[in-house]
Amino acid sequence: MAQQREVFMEISPADFFYRNRDLAGFTNPSRAVYATIRELLENSLDACELHRIPPEIYIRLSQESSNDKAETYRIRIMDNGSGVPPEHIPSAFGQILYGSKYTLKQVRGTFGLGGKMAVLYGQITTHSSVHIISSTGTSRIYEFELMIDIQKNRPIIMKKDVKSNKDKWHGTIIEFTFEGDYTKAMAKIIEYMKQTAMVAPYANLTFIDPKGRLYRYTRITDKLPPPPDEILPHPYGVDVETIQRIINVTKCRDMLCFMTTHFHRVGKNTAEKFLEYAQLDGKTDPKRLTPDDSVALAQAMRNFPDFLPPDASCLSPIGRELLEAGIRKELNPDFIIVEQRKPAAYSGYPFIVEVGVAFGGEVPSKTGIALYRFANRIPLLYDESSDVAWKVANTKVNWRHYKVTPDMPIALIVHICSTKVPYKTVGKEFIADRPEVENEILRGVRNVSRRLRLFLSRKISIERERQRLNVFSRYLPKIAKFATELAEKEEEPDIKPLLGSIDRFRSFSENEEE
Ligand code: ADP
Ligand code: MG
Repeated sequence: MAQQREVFMEISPADFFYRNRDLAGFTNPSRAVYATIRELLENSLDACELHRIPPEIYIRLSQESSNDKAETYRIRIMDNGSGVPPEHIPSAFGQILYGSKYTLKQVRGTFGLGGKMAVLYGQITTHSSVHIISSTGTSRIYEFELMIDIQKNRPIIMKKDVKSNKDKWHGTIIEFTFEGDYTKAMAKIIEYMKQTAMVAPYANLTFIDPKGRLYRYTRITDKLPPPPDEILPHPYGVDVETIQRIINVTKCRDMLCFMTTHFHRVGKNTAEKFLEYAQLDGKTDPKRLTPDDSVALAQAMRNFPDFLPPDASCLSPIGRELLEAGIRKELNPDFIIVEQRKPAAYSGYPFIVEVGVAFGGEVPSKTGIALYRFANRIPLLYDESSDVAWKVANTKVNWRHYKVTPDMPIALIVHICSTKVPYKTVGKEFIADRPEVENEILRGVRNVSRRLRLFLSRKISIERERQRLNVFSRYLPKIAKFATELAEKEEEPDIKPLLGSIDRFRSFSENEEE
């Protein structure tokens, strides 16, 4: 048998994701429509929120053609966000792993991948280019037509145009075609938008679907949560590679300066204590550390017990008031309570958990709890049972203790925001069960459930009283009649005032419940 030779080659990141599009959520035509809309919408929301612009987003999906093998769609999305500076447009939309969000602050995008994955998918399924119009509010609007050179991972500029921008418009318009299956994806897409509206009640969102139906989610407030700051890496999350990169660029000449300049919440005192703990002289020049020293330094950073926990200025939770307003707007419940937990951290990454519970109204009545999961304000709709919030809701909480029965319309809302959400895949669908995160969710759920129990007990006792009075008012006329006969009286007593007071109780208890 002839010996076969192995062939070695290198592939670009674009080529890698071209071959492994499942990893980014583009598994089949239906998931492709969902992922495309989701990634573009996320980019638009990021572009608005980071600049405190109340989002105005318009999405149109139309069908181009269909045959028995495939359906082709055209998507157009327009936002009023920050816009993309012209020199970055080609790479932002035509080079995988290129983006402006590789920093330590909370954003929806994380991998420099999502929007381009959609564009790449469009290109490989319909062999067409992407059309981008954008302005940052300067006197010019830039228009590009791009394709991706997948093997080189570089944008190819097919056309470029500059127009004047008299109105100082800022925002981005993106348009391209791709292969998909809207009919199958429809329910999830609409649910995605509804849940997006729930956590972004300050956004106007319009969606026109291929069947010509218009979905509109209207803002109920102009208030946006404060935008997050960027922070330095926290020592508990630092590894040797990070240390090495900082050493390469640092201007510090000694370790004391190195520690206090490049790490989150390390002041002079903490730095001195730490250096003593790590058996390093504060005067050592960081550039003289050997590789072994760097390894020892990273280990010492992870083990030193006295670093301050990361602060939460880099996070932008939704906040009790806004989240409650959003849930009211989309679910219109009879009862709702939201709790924001204090900032916590896992491996040096700060995070905040927000938990809400809602009862009645338009909360779907299904068996068990309706779980709404969010991460950095992104609704998570797939792989529910792999998510840490599902684990907490279904295995850690004894709902009977809170007077919740399986037939009740109850929604549990869990939002986690972090500089690094512990997703298990780049498709960003579910969150790993990090003990710190799990613990915060559990505590939040317990607190809101306690308030729910109060509401439910009250509701149950009012219901009992109402039933008692129902029986009473049904039999009262008969009792009156019978008593009159028994007493051998002619005239029955007047029971109207009594019936009246029962009615008054009924309407009072109904108002009470609201
Ligand atoms: P990511 O969002 O993970 O960074 P994307 O491929 O989705 O990766 O987007 C790449 C970059 O393009 C973003 O980091 C952002 O700077 C820019 N971008 C994409 N869409 C928009 C938009 N609608 N408005 C402004 N900037 C955008
Ligand atoms: Mg993105």
